[in-house]
Parts: sequence; structure tokens; C-alpha cells
Amino acid sequence: MTARKEKQPKTPKIPDGPGIWTQLAVAFAVFVLLSAGYSFIREYISAEKQTVAISQIASDITAGSIESISVQGDSITAVYTDKSEKTSRKESEASLTETLSKFDIPSARLAAVKITVADEGGLRFWFLTLVPILVPALLLLGVLWYLTRQMKGGGMQAFSFGRSMARLISPDDGAQKVTFKDVAGAKEAKVELLEIVDFLKNPKKFIQIGARIPKGVLLMGAPGTGKTLLARAVAGEAGVPFFSISGSEFVEMFVGVGASRVRDLFQTAKKAAPAIIFMDEIDAVGRVRGSGVGGGNDEREQTLNQILVEMDGFEPNEKVIVMAATNRPDVLDPALLRPGRFDRRVMIDLPDRKDREDILEVHARTKPFGPDVKLSVIAERTPGFSGADLANLMNEAAILAAREDRTEIAQYDLIRSIEKVMLGPERRSHVLNVKEKEITAYHEAGHALVASVLPYADPVHKISIISRGRAAGYTLKLPFEDRKMQSRKEFLDDIAVSLGGYIAENLVFGDITTGASNDLQVLTNLARNMVERYGMSDKMGPIAFAAGAQRAMFGEGVEGGEVSQEVQSQLDGEVKRIILDAHKKAEHIITTHRKALNAIAEKLVEVETLERDAFEDILIANGITPKKKEDIEHAPLA
Ligand code: ADP
Ligand code: MG
Ligand code: ZN
Repeated sequence: MTARKEKQPKTPKIPDGPGIWTQLAVAFAVFVLLSAGYSFIREYISAEKQTVAISQIASDITAGSIESISVQGDSITAVYTDKSEKTSRKESEASLTETLSKFDIPSARLAAVKITVADEGGLRFWFLTLVPILVPALLLLGVLWYLTRQMKGGGMQAFSFGRSMARLISPDDGAQKVTFKDVAGAKEAKVELLEIVDFLKNPKKFIQIGARIPKGVLLMGAPGTGKTLLARAVAGEAGVPFFSISGSEFVEMFVGVGASRVRDLFQTAKKAAPAIIFMDEIDAVGRVRGSGVGGGNDEREQTLNQILVEMDGFEPNEKVIVMAATNRPDVLDPALLRPGRFDRRVMIDLPDRKDREDILEVHARTKPFGPDVKLSVIAERTPGFSGADLANLMNEAAILAAREDRTEIAQYDLIRSIEKVMLGPERRSHVLNVKEKEITAYHEAGHALVASVLPYADPVHKISIISRGRAAGYTLKLPFEDRKMQSRKEFLDDIAVSLGGYIAENLVFGDITTGASNDLQVLTNLARNMVERYGMSDKMGPIAFAAGAQRAMFGEGVEGGEVSQEVQSQLDGEVKRIILDAHKKAEHIITTHRKALNAIAEKLVEVETLERDAFEDILIANGITPKKKEDIEHAPLA
């Protein structure tokens, strides 16, 4: 079964712009253009007046053609009697009168010229002095600012590694808003979470009466059951900011960053209170500490410690609620589950038939459906599907309809999508040769036949020898009802059904192919669980030998999972006995109903896919009564 990759809300990011070299080139071009423009203007300003030597000025004074002279720093502007202007420069150290005195100008002529000394701080002076310095400096600053902004937005997180990296969904963001209406089923979980919503909305009510509000809520459930969705719905219902970060993001990229990210995240959230902090997939950081299995990861432990410290460090009246989600609550560090931390635990189960119908309806809202569509039928045929699987199914159906240029989704699209989601896409191009086709047909016929005869096996819905995903063919069995529990008799029949393919191949062709290897793996696991986990072997008794084994993988060393060699060999013996018993049972069925086996296999080679009705016709023709819903319901539970 495929769980859809989770869709995380994202704050809009600056789209990846052109590469850094292009940007630098553009900046450089702008710089060159500006400086060229500047020098042009500068030249133009100077060019409007003729520049002459100081001796020229002196002789013009002697000639009496100059009316006045203004001095500004070292530059001299002479205004002639005809109102024309000429500029010149004098030596820096000497004053104008000193300079002119060297030229033997008659004093009467000199006295007639009005000499003014202008302030050096004229606007033009400042302009001319500052622009050559300021323009490049401003340009440089601008480029730097632009680049850093790009880096923050883009992938270069190197420049912000202490920051929390949490995504924020603000309550006013209509497009991303999710409410309880968008979450179908999960009634108990919603009831629990309503309390949290209530607190975030009216914290006063709770604080006044002295109630202690949970700081942490842990959502637990199989992948795709809607944990992330529910957390967002709580934020949406309460209308508070929602800071979301996934466990693996804490530990990303730089060592020592996880802890500071946690600190930053809590600080930001407190400033925005009331708010929700959501840590998705918390098992990535929250695993049992100090195990050494899988490499002691200091970074992860420090991050976890920081989470614990932060959760202890804020008071309930700070109005920040920490939510977390995991599908592995069993591996979490016990310290996380202590009261005062994630003490509220909400379990989200796989949806039952009614819930599945509701979930399908939620995802059907935006899609056009044909008149023949009955979502209740689809819900009935999808036991074990998670919310994500159902959403995926709806999407696949829409894609199928669009590919065939229809504007409405038909029931047939939905039915085909069930198998696609369950088993992967059909691989019609993966053609079996004639021999392989025959072997596959007998193999699947073997499964189907055993399943039809044994009382506790699920009825066969469909058989096919078109390869799908990794399997060459498949037999689709579906229970009539959702099951929360499975019995020993059901397991034993399941093992026999799994062996059906192997036995049929061996019996008909006198040989075994690798096609049965997956079946063998599955049934061996099942038998081992029966003996070691569920206490379903009379000889070994009601002992869960494997109880500690799972833990041992992720945490508390290897203690608890070990049994003595003697017990281990007894366990192996029991597993073997269960499988051999099932083998005997299945072999007996296949040999007694050999004619039915041949009929099913031959039909399969011919048509490749048999639906339930066609299959049951073959059974009846060979004297086997197909299972009816009532038979299963009245069968006593073992
Ligand atoms: P989890 O976090 O438990 O792995 P998600 O919350 O990411 O699962 O669910 C993935 C998608 O599956 C959601 O975005 C939604 O489209 C769909 N989904 C899951 N559960 C439900 C539900 N109860 N109602 C409606 N849609 C659901
Ligand atoms: Mg999730
Ligand atoms: Zn098989």
C-alpha cells in the first residue's frame, strides 16, 4: 500500500532566480553604465565654460575685459564684460591676489575687477566630491542586500542556521486554512482536540478556575491517517498561528543547530501566543536516548533535551500548546511522555467503512462525478486504506478520467484506482512468455482455490495475471467487514492460502519458481508472529517472546528480547509445524479439486483477469459453493 507523500504547507518562497553569476554580471553592467553616465555629466558641466590658463585671466584683466572674478577653492570663474564666463585654476597655497600680483597687472585695472571668494561648501562642490564615492558604495550595498535576501529565500540556509526554520501558517491565511470540516472520521480524536481548541480560544475561562491545561498533545496513528491534517485543523479552528516543523529538520545540515532551532522556535511561538507549535514525525528526534544502537547521536539527544527543557520552562498560562505527531509511539523516549510534557495522547485509527465513505466525500467536493458513482461501494472495497490512500485513490481516478478525455469521473475509474493504489500500477508492457504466463495462472489459481474452500479465508474478489508493481500476478481477497482483531483460525487459513501458489506450481509443473518467494516470506512472518507474539501456539503457551525484541532495535539495548537457545529452537520448531500443517491442508484441497484448479488456470491464460462473478461460476461448475457473507458472519470466532 502506498502512503502518499505528505503535503506540507509552505510559506511562499522567493522563486529561484537566475544564477549568482548572472546576477553579478547584471550588477556589474549597471555599475559600468552609471559611472559612464556620471563622467559624461561631469564633463558636460565643465564643458559649458571654457577653461583657460591663469596667465590668460591676468592679461584679460590688464586688457580690462573682465568684470568680476569669483574664487571657489582653487577654481576661478571670471565673468567678462560681454557676460561670458571662463574658468581657471590657481595654485592651492597662494591666494588669488598673490597669484595675480606676479603678472604685473596695473593696480587700477585690478581694482576695477570685483573679486568674491565663495564658500567652498557649494552644492555643486559637494555633489562633485561625494557622488564618485557614494554611488559605488550604495551600489555595493544594494547588491549585497539583494544577494543575502536571495540566500535566505533560496536553498542556502547556511546563513540562517540558528533560526528555527519552522513554517508558519497564520490564521488569516484563507487558502491554507484547514478546519475540522476537512477531516472526516476520527471522531474520538476530534472530541479530544476540541478541548484544546476551546482553551486556545478562551484561555481565561480555564485559568480562572485553576485548571491545568495540557502543554503537549501527541497524535499517534499509522501513516496517512490524518495526523498532520488534524493538527492544522486545530490551529484553523482556534484561529491561532501554527508553527510547524518536522523532526528531521531539527537535525539537518549543521551539528549543534538542532538545539538552537528548538530554542528559537519556542521563543517565536511565545511572542505570537496563543499559538500552536507542531512537531511532525517527532520520532526522528524523540527516540529513546543513550542506546548506542544505530550510533549514539549526540546531536539528536541535545535536540531532544532542549525540547524537554523548553516544555518544562513554560507555564500553562503562556498559551502555547505543543502538538506532535508520530507513527512510532513505541520508540519515543519515556521522558517525552511524562506528565507535563506530551501527557495528552490522541490515537487516530485507520478509518472504518463509514469513515472511509466520509473521507471520500471530503475529497469528492471539488470533483465532478458521473451519475453512476456510489462512494459507499468504494468505501466497502477499501478496508485497511488510510485517509491518504483514499485521497490518493480519488486523485488517481480523476487522472484516469482526464487521460481518457472525459469531464466526469465514473465509478469504473474509482474501481480501477483501488487496485492501483493497493498494488501499484499495471505493467502491461511487462509481458510474460507463454510458459511464464501458464505458471503464473496456476500459481494464482492455487491461491484462489484454497481461499475459496477454507472457511476462514477472505473471499476472492479478483484474480489477474497482469503484472502489477513487483508481482507477476495477483489474487485480490477482501474481507466482507472491517476487522479490528484476527483469530488463530483466520491466520492458519491465511497461511494455507499463501502456500496455495507454491503448491500448485510444484504439483502441476514438478518445479518451483522464484515467483513464490514473497508469499513464503509473508507466511513465515505470520507464523512466527503467531508463536512469538500472539501466544497462538499451544506448545509454547501464552508468552510474548518477542515483546522486547522491537524495543531492542531502537533503544534499550538488547535486554528483554533474548531467549535461550533451547527456547529459540522450540520456537523455530513450532513455526515449522504450523507451516507444514497448513501445507498439508492446502495440498489436500488442491489435489481433491484438481479439476477446478485446471479450469481456473486455463480461463486465466485465456482472459488474464477474472472478476468475482466469473470466478464463482467456475467454482460452481466444479462443485464448490462460493462463500456468502452470511457464512462468514455466522462462523464462530476462534
Ligand atoms: P499523517 O500525518 O497521519 O501521515 P496526513 O495528515 O499528512 O497524514 O494526511 C495526508 C493526506 O491524507 C491529507 O492531506 C488528506 O488529504 C488525507 N487525509 C488523511 N486523513 C484524512 C481524513 N480523516 N479526512 C480527510 N482527508 C484525510
Ligand atoms: Mg504527517
Ligand atoms: Zn503468490
